[in-house]
Amino acid sequence: MSRRISIFGATGSIGQNTIDLIARDRAAYRVVALTGGGNIAQLARDARSLSAEIAVTADESRLDDLRAALAGSGVEAAAGRAALVEAASRPADWIMSAIVGAAGLEPGLRALQQGATLALANKESMVCAGPLMLRTARDRGGQILPVDSEHSAVFQALIGEDIAAVERVIITASGGAFRDWPLKDLARATPEQAATHPNWSMGQRITIDSASMFNKALELIETREFFGIAPAKIETVVHPESMIHALVGFNDGALMAHVGPPDMRHAIGFALHYPTRKALPVERLDLVKLGQLTFRDPCETRWPALRLAREVMQAGGLMGSVFNAAKERALDAFIDHRISFLGMAEVVEEVLVSLSSQAGHNAAGITLDMVAEADHLARIEADAVMQRKT
Ligand code: NDP
Ligand code: MG
Repeated sequence: MSRRISIFGATGSIGQNTIDLIARDRAAYRVVALTGGGNIAQLARDARSLSAEIAVTADESRLDDLRAALAGSGVEAAAGRAALVEAASRPADWIMSAIVGAAGLEPGLRALQQGATLALANKESMVCAGPLMLRTARDRGGQILPVDSEHSAVFQALIGEDIAAVERVIITASGGAFRDWPLKDLARATPEQAATHPNWSMGQRITIDSASMFNKALELIETREFFGIAPAKIETVVHPESMIHALVGFNDGALMAHVGPPDMRHAIGFALHYPTRKALPVERLDLVKLGQLTFRDPCETRWPALRLAREVMQAGGLMGSVFNAAKERALDAFIDHRISFLGMAEVVEEVLVSLSSQAGHNAAGITLDMVAEADHLARIEADAVMQRKT
């Protein structure tokens, strides 16, 4: 019988890689929902070729465009936030969460409420509402499989292991676009320069977050939330080749590394076929050709986001949500040339200080409303901080 699958954020980088994998084995899948934002042409093209049940654009004003693009296809068209959340409630066995930003949280949560397997690329969900996500999966008989490459690597290294024997988890960072820039030049870095990645091909926002290491900061928190590992045991190291995605250190001194080319289809395919392994169309590494792998110190002067992530993990409660929302607003402003590259971390730090009252909430009891409130407050505060600065 074919598996029912839905892809949230189908028009993005992760979404397209997911479609690439399922299109290779069409008979195995029945596509329920595909969602996108502004890229109506791509959404309609994929919904037609995969014979999706429904295509949803998050942009309410584009419903007529989507309807026109789907005319005669038999695919249902819908638009807006409520339609997106409704689509996540449509029965499916496997749901990819690949919307970018906190906007991905509610659809992912809905998917878990129906007891589905959630393949989670949207790291913001774990950063903002990790305990809520895990609790929902547990209570409804669903499961969450990490798609972020580092977390997929850790997950794979932990199979068959006792979590109590884990001494440390090391997630690697490429260092992004500016890893070799002199520190003094960072103040002048532009969004266009930040949006080029040395190794990975990804969406614009995560690529810029890689240059600032806000991506790695989110991933440190994601590691804490997903695996329940104490912050003191979680490390990052700059690894410019991006071949090792993560390492897990055990109490006998062994380090288990996950090694592979930087191709997201590995982590997506692993989550798609879990608990079995199936052949994937990813490059096989030639170690001799590779020659060497290198590692560097993740300097917190160059990348203050890493220090902020530690503070957020220490504070707990709703600070993950505050951190992410402030980062999203600061990133918007950087992309619009309203603040500088280094200004992003300054804004986020100020918001963390002024909203520190959100720390220490009983994390186990957090609700979607509480997360939404913290997110809202942080966006207002970030805007106020930026207003004062300009
Ligand atoms: P992209 O920017 O390429 O794609 C984002 C997707 O979300 C698109 O389908 C976009 O629609 C849609 N979208 C954007 N804004 C909204 C919104 N407000 N509501 C609903 N849908 C929206 O991002 P990526 O694929 O790079 O990343 C997706 C997620 O996966 C992120 O959380 C990222 O951190 C994570 N991730 C990505 C990796 C990668 O390799 N790309 C690696 C690991 C994690 P449209 O384009 O049509 O406007
Ligand atoms: Mg990652």
